[in-house]
Amino acid sequence: MTKQDFNEGLLGFLDASPTPFHATQNMAGMFANAGFIELHEVQKWDLKEGQNYFVTRNDSSIIAFTFPHAKNSLYHKGTSSLSLTSHSKSYTMIGTHTDSPNLKLKPNPIVKNDGVVKFGVEPYGGVLLNTWFDRDLSFAGRVSYLDSSNILRDTLIDVRKPIAIIPSLAIHLDREVNTSKSVNAQTDILPISTCQDDFDFDTFLKQELLACGILDVVELYANELSFYDTQKASFVGINDDFIASARIDNLLSCYVGMLTICSVSEDTPMLFIASDHEEVGSESAAGAGGSFLESTLKRMFSDFEEYTQMLRSSILISADNAHAIHPNYPSKHDANHAPKINKGVVVKVNANQRYASNSKTISRFMNVASSINEPIQNYVTRSDMGCGSTIGPITATRLGIDTIDVGLPTFAMHSVRELCGSDDAYSLYKILLGFE
Ligand code: ZN
Repeated sequence: MTKQDFNEGLLGFLDASPTPFHATQNMAGMFANAGFIELHEVQKWDLKEGQNYFVTRNDSSIIAFTFPHAKNSLYHKGTSSLSLTSHSKSYTMIGTHTDSPNLKLKPNPIVKNDGVVKFGVEPYGGVLLNTWFDRDLSFAGRVSYLDSSNILRDTLIDVRKPIAIIPSLAIHLDREVNTSKSVNAQTDILPISTCQDDFDFDTFLKQELLACGILDVVELYANELSFYDTQKASFVGINDDFIASARIDNLLSCYVGMLTICSVSEDTPMLFIASDHEEVGSESAAGAGGSFLESTLKRMFSDFEEYTQMLRSSILISADNAHAIHPNYPSKHDANHAPKINKGVVVKVNANQRYASNSKTISRFMNVASSINEPIQNYVTRSDMGCGSTIGPITATRLGIDTIDVGLPTFAMHSVRELCGSDDAYSLYKILLGFE
């Protein structure tokens, strides 16, 4: 696959995935097309060696894995064969997250005042709120309802059309705005939707379901709907140097991981997991702090001896975004650990284990990267600033798997429109393929 094809597919995936539910649905579709068989957590699994599988939880997290014949998976790049018995498999696992900060509709969202209808919203995760003003917004997500057969059903919707906007306050009404703007999450960011006085939210939602071909709705019970910017993902820069889009954190890594596992042979022990709720700490049934990966691995390896050997000889590559040094704010980085856009994948290190990388996992990763001449950069947060974290340390803690945190350099993390380079994701894809 050429870099151009890779990046164009990325733009399509970003646009088609306004919520974790849609991202998961799109990845599931990709895996099904690539011949992976869908498993359901509530059914008995009967895994066959040589077959690939995927499974989802909460419609918002997904795991895909190969299940090679034991004889084909004795050796794993960079692993000592001494540690493996004849039936061990050592997996390369790629971990990412499906969720991105956004504005989520409240259960009773309609607020009417001063001649307009607004939607009450709650910020999800660390939203860079001031980027949400003056954007043409739509919403998407999951709706749960009762049909006439008394069956509870869920469906995904995506309104697609711009239906709301959060207008800025004019500069004439706030002369201090360029020196001291603050945003109140309760009062300042309600998207304005219509001047129709008798607007009814349930009627609107039912019309949206109707447009999706769902006619049989007796009662709407609940929803998880999020606003998103309708501007499409795009190349930016004189030489298409950058990619600008919503949700680059972390659909970028989801896309790379998804393509990687679809590209390797079924004899390569590989697992890909994209978890929901990373942006709010991963503590949920579908999040990396939950049991999804552990219970999947235990069903793959029901023998405890085999399970433990597999885990201790495997590696988790936790792939998320990394802060590139911002050319207008260079003092925000440690000068020796300041990744640049389009200069390669970033290895993230933190002495206090906010990132799970250690010298052994880093050397395994660097060994693969250098064997195919892909550059690597290093990131350490300034010692006088707090450090973010990822699913890496959470998963390493839960499972006891050796882990490395890597990332793709980005600007404007958690903005409604983030920016990454057009070279780096493809570089990560090539490195991950090198683990085959
Ligand atoms: Zn992230």
